[in-house]
Amino acid sequence: MIAVSESIEILKANIATLGTEKRPLIDALGHVLSADVLAKVNVPSFDNSAMDGYAICFEIERTDYQVKYNIQAGDTNSYILKEKEAARIYTGAPVPDNANAVIQQELVNENGSNISFDKEKVKLGMNIRTLGSQCFENQIIASQGVLVTPAILGLLASAGVFEVEVYIMPKVSVIITGNELQKPNHELEFGQIYNSNEFALVGLLKSIGISQIKTYHVIDELTEVKKTVQTALNQSDVLIVTGGVSVGDFDFVKEALENNQVQGLFYKVKQKPGKPLFVGKKQDQWVFALPGNPAAVITCFNQYVKPSILAISGRKNTFEPIAILPLKNTFKKAAGLTFFVKGKYDYQGVEILQGQESFNLLSFNVANCIVKIEDNIESLEIGSLVEVYPLD
Ligand code: AMP
Ligand code: MG
Repeated sequence: MIAVSESIEILKANIATLGTEKRPLIDALGHVLSADVLAKVNVPSFDNSAMDGYAICFEIERTDYQVKYNIQAGDTNSYILKEKEAARIYTGAPVPDNANAVIQQELVNENGSNISFDKEKVKLGMNIRTLGSQCFENQIIASQGVLVTPAILGLLASAGVFEVEVYIMPKVSVIITGNELQKPNHELEFGQIYNSNEFALVGLLKSIGISQIKTYHVIDELTEVKKTVQTALNQSDVLIVTGGVSVGDFDFVKEALENNQVQGLFYKVKQKPGKPLFVGKKQDQWVFALPGNPAAVITCFNQYVKPSILAISGRKNTFEPIAILPLKNTFKKAAGLTFFVKGKYDYQGVEILQGQESFNLLSFNVANCIVKIEDNIESLEIGSLVEVYPLD
């Protein structure tokens, strides 16, 4: 058995990215850029109006102008203003080449095709978004290591980028073991339970952006488990198994993995829930065998599998807590194991919830985080600082 801190160090020391690929921009969402991205064009690529109003070539003593042009967004002509001339102009429309101000329409008195205004309100360059004021062609606009969020998609598209190079996200297989499992749309026979781990795991994987997911079901029988492990390993970068990794007579997962040349990095962690956690590798492939208890599955995924998959996908600091917050209630446990308990946090602090048994999922109804309580701790007072790991 190893300490939680040691197990995390082993993961961090062994994790590597899988290589890179080019993706159409829209399919890069949730991926990490593996190279700096350069703007294809100047943004804006022409001086344009920031307001609906009037473009003028402002001369200090002149406050009355004649409206000569009407320039809409998307107008592809270019215009030059002569003395006394103004152009009616709308947000995003190209300003005439020699215009030096756009006066918003609220500041203008309109009289037929003439306009006038208070000259004190005019500043040279006002309401003109100048060429390149966001970025210039070939400027780095998103750096290697940046996560492609919807806002990054917008930024890249604004500069004409339609394809990016990103780190490959792993293909993941999930093996569900257990003779007792039934699908939620079937009647339970005596002794059966519903297979909740599959739903939780597939949902968790999708929630971190994994799209290539294969699921297998297997009974608790050594030859069957070996065969399924072999099939799943042939199709995936990461394999997650639930159940059958404990010390019972029908727990065949560890043996089946070893039989498939998976080398253990660690087995059994001083933690609750999820003590029998096994993590191993077969060359570059990762295997996480989680105990079957549903709350242990979600906790082990959150603390081990998620940060590993995200790090493999190029994300940084994935094992770090989101915050260190004061406890809103007291907590007691025996020293020895690290506890990962379901909690609900906000900006003020974190509350440890009732119903922490590893089979009990009900507190996920309100939980939004896992709280880590260090192994040596026996009791915590209100206000004690604890590490908080988000569940979403
Ligand atoms: P195991 O690790 O196989 O000994 O399973 C531990 C506990 O988790 C047992 O009570 C199992 O019935 C339960 N369990 C295992 N797999 C699942 C699953 N897919 N969904 C819900 N409960 C499960
Ligand atoms: Mg089992």
